Amino acid sequence: MKGHLLRGKDPADALRKAARERAARLTDSRGTPPRLAVLAIGGDEAAQVYLRSKLSACRETGIESTVESLPKDATPDEALRVLAGLSHDAEVDGILIDLPLPPHLDARVLTDAIAPEKDAEGVTPVSLGRLYREKSMDGIERSALLVPCTARAVVHLACEGLAAAGLGSPSGLEAVVLGRSNIVGRPAAHLLSCLDATVTLAHSRTKDLPQVLRRADIVVAAAGSPGLVRGDWIKEGAVVVDAGITRQGHLIRGDVEFEAAAARAGAITPVPGGVGPLTVAYLLQNVVLAAERAAERAG
Ligand code: NAD
Repeated sequence: MKGHLLRGKDPADALRKAARERAARLTDSRGTPPRLAVLAIGGDEAAQVYLRSKLSACRETGIESTVESLPKDATPDEALRVLAGLSHDAEVDGILIDLPLPPHLDARVLTDAIAPEKDAEGVTPVSLGRLYREKSMDGIERSALLVPCTARAVVHLACEGLAAAGLGSPSGLEAVVLGRSNIVGRPAAHLLSCLDATVTLAHSRTKDLPQVLRRADIVVAAAGSPGLVRGDWIKEGAVVVDAGITRQGHLIRGDVEFEAAAARAGAITPVPGGVGPLTVAYLLQNVVLAAERAAERAG
């Protein structure tokens, strides 16, 4: 390996410590801890393991959490009723829909039912609209927006990688984001543009992906296709952030061919241990922020 290994643990620990302190202050001042409610619908064993780790991160941060479980054949109306109840419940600060959903349920329809002020993952149309109208990272920070957690984690690690690799800030650099989903690729591309990178949003219809990626100083992979990005597509010294997670038996694989890419990259995230832990930390931060805002509204 030539460049820096961008582990998520250290920045995640720092964010979690700050979230814990804010949660404690809020618990003191309003008498109840921040509270996250999760809607889980028929999750398999792997989804439950991941959910348990989020719940235990909440506990360690001083955030209470509850899980509303529905069977895998739950109807859209049943799920919408639960979400409406949580949206109106004054004791709930944040709401998260555990993904993936069973195929007959449309994540967009369910997401629309989350009250925007409780949008723990920053994925409702209102949260995304507020995000996309901002043009700078300063504006995003100033407006204290609920930002999609994985996208935020990706951009955090990209910035750390650039600093470690001696490339400075994203300003003026070429970034290629692979994947245009509303929860990862598209918001990550927007955040990078807010940091003044020149951003290309690549996807499954992109022509000549290797050539597009070879231009990139920053590569963000969020396609969910293991090993899709070959090592020789990476420009020498580039920063590579791999958000991809695909389970293959007991293995978890990213989108990037790690060894070959690491031989060329200036900095690169491992999978697992890169974006994942930082995503959880940003989720905790969003829940605390939503709870602080709820306390302000309650006066
Ligand atoms: P998605 O399926 O909604 O979107 C995938 C995107 O990748 C699409 O825009 C598609 O056009 C593009 N794509 C797929 N195959 C491609 C190919 N062969 N060439 C070019 N583009 C291709 O997925 P998502 O929800 O955005 O998740 C992406 C990955 O990130 C998944 O592996 C997911 O598990 C992972 N993820 C990780 C975290 C984390 O915390 N680390 C959180 C959320 C998602």
